[in-house]
Amino acid sequence: MKKYRITLDAGHYADYNPSTVLKGYWESRRMWALCEMLAEELLKYGFEVNKTRTDEEKDLDVEDRGRAARGSDLFVSLHSNACDTESVDYVCVFGAYDDLNGSWELGGRLAAAVSECMGCTGGYVKTRRGRRGEYYGVLRGAREVECPLYYIIEHSFHTNLRASKWLMDDSNLRKLARVEAAVIAAHFGVLYVAGQVKGDVNGNGVLDARDVAMIKRAVLGTLTLNDEQLKIADVDDDGRITAKDYAMAKRAFLGTHKL
Ligand SMILES: [Zn+2]
Repeated sequence: MKKYRITLDAGHYADYNPSTVLKGYWESRRMWALCEMLAEELLKYGFEVNKTRTDEEKDLDVEDRGRAARGSDLFVSLHSNACDTESVDYVCVFGAYDDLNGSWELGGRLAAAVSECMGCTGGYVKTRRGRRGEYYGVLRGAREVECPLYYIIEHSFHTNLRASKWLMDDSNLRKLARVEAAVIAAHFGVLYVAGQVKGDVNGNGVLDARDVAMIKRAVLGTLTLNDEQLKIADVDDDGRITAKDYAMAKRAFLGTHKL
């Protein structure tokens, strides 16, 4: 089966766009957290996940972030919105202005699912055309590198107290990540495969620090892995567990290398 590649973009960096109604809410921080969780959930389906940035504190030009979607099947930029009316509480997904590759279909499903998950008043697909094609730089960049489907998801409004409070809860973000991953997987016809993430020796669905530590111990001979774990730990697929597997798993965990 084809391995689909998805590029995720946490909309902003460091402390950016505070909520006007809830102290401590930053659009940048919450969407970074959601981006990490969505990456984890997508990996469980076997997607290849690419992120536009690996350092939460560092910015990258909007068009360059879009261009990071080169070679990807899907680009998603994660945001919460702002407006002058505190009561506004809906989800909006920006898709291609000309419905490129049927963009509005998946956009509509994402909008509806996110709205339902968040308990918002609705979810809608919107478009915005500018002088140079897409109005938004991230979408313009993604289109430029011919990523077939690209979206901005506005997870309601951080000018709304209910939505801001909801997004401040990590367990809600996890639900959101699962819902978004499920909609994306359904679109690509990908089924959930548990425990099949490369390097995920402890089988919790993600490659994390514990897995890296286990692979290191396996290489050193201080930990014995079962046959299934040996296959998963052998990230370079050469039939044995060596220092190279440890190095690759470590780099994958740090986000500097993709398995
Ligand atoms: Zn934003």
